[in-house]
Amino acid sequence: MYKCYQDNITAGEESFPLSQVIAENLFYLAMWVLTGYLLWPIWTPFGLPLLTIIWAILVVIIQVLLKKHNCSGCYYYDKGCHLGWGKISAAMFKQDSGNPKIGVKLSFFYILPPPLITLTALAFAIIKSPSWVYWFMLALFVILNAASFPVRKKGCGSCAMREVCPGSASKNKVIS
Ligand code: SF4
Repeated sequence: MYKCYQDNITAGEESFPLSQVIAENLFYLAMWVLTGYLLWPIWTPFGLPLLTIIWAILVVIIQVLLKKHNCSGCYYYDKGCHLGWGKISAAMFKQDSGNPKIGVKLSFFYILPPPLITLTALAFAIIKSPSWVYWFMLALFVILNAASFPVRKKGCGSCAMREVCPGSASKNKVIS
């Protein structure tokens, strides 16, 4: 575990039920897929949904980097955190092989895209008047993002890393 985390581990669950791990991962997956759908018609040079392709590549790259820079130094490395990502990290990277400061920067992936995507999709929908399906997906995206706050707070609330994990939705302190 990263040294900067060691003094801030809080009492929490040692492992989480598989049903919770699957549900939380499906929740994230749904939001990433919805993002790809909303971006799809916005920019299609040569008929290619370029923004969706860029988004898909970005999700994969950032998620892999997060497993290295956050999860490899986490208390749950090779254990079952509420997302199960400690196990994925252990399968891909050596323990403590990342840089927690890079991990903090990468965690902006959870903060910046949702409002940007919402505004971009909304502007597209107003200008281009797409079908009701697009509007429905946009509304679903907004609802899921709003719901992500209590969902993440619940998962992070009983996590031993909640005070230090840069992606924690239930912390009072941040590492410097
Ligand atoms: S608690 Fe956060 S940093 Fe730790 S393994 Fe889970 S997702 Fe990764």
